[in-house]
Amino acid sequence: MAILKLARMGNPILRQKAQVVTQQEIKSPKMTEFISNMLDTLHDAKGLGLAAPQVSCSIQLAVIEIDPNNPRYKDSVHLPKQPLLILFNPEIQILDHEPQGYWEGCLSVPGIRGFVRRPRKIRVNYLNEKAEEKSLIAENFLSTVFQHELDHLDGNLFIDRIHPEDRQKLTFIDEYEQFWKNS
Ligand code: ZN
Repeated sequence: MAILKLARMGNPILRQKAQVVTQQEIKSPKMTEFISNMLDTLHDAKGLGLAAPQVSCSIQLAVIEIDPNNPRYKDSVHLPKQPLLILFNPEIQILDHEPQGYWEGCLSVPGIRGFVRRPRKIRVNYLNEKAEEKSLIAENFLSTVFQHELDHLDGNLFIDRIHPEDRQKLTFIDEYEQFWKNS
C-alpha cells in the first residue's frame, strides 16, 4: 500500500495535456502497481475519482469509484453508486448539451467548492485495465464526475469551468456551509 502525494493547484503538471497510454503499457505490472497506489490514495483522501496528473504522472488514466456513503460529500449532494472504473485514453462525446449545475470539489484544490454547469449526458469511450475497448453512458451527477476527472487529462480544473454568472459560487468550505449549502 502506498499513498501518493497529491499535486495541488499551481503545480504545472496539472496544466499539461496528459500522454496517451499504449496497450502494452496498460498491461504492464508497473501499471497494475501504479493503479493500486492510485486507489490507495483515492480511498485515503475520500475522493470520488482521481486522475493520474493529480499524483504527478502525466498519462491518460483516471479512476472513479463512488460510495454513496462517502462522508466528504454527505451534505452537498445525493451520491449515486459507481463501482470502480479504470479508464485509459478516455474520449467524451456529449449526448445532451442541456447544462446542469452541481457543487464540485477537487483533491488538487483543497478547501474550495464551486458551482459548475456541465452537459447533462455524455458517452465515454475508453480502454479498461485489460486494454479492452469499452463505452459507457453517464448522466446527471455521474456525467459531472466523469467530466471533472477527464478534464484533468486535458490540463483543466473545475474552477476554469465556472460560468461568469456563477462567480460568487466559488467559495471556501466554511463560506459554502454558511451561505450556500441550503440554497
Ligand atoms: Zn479534480
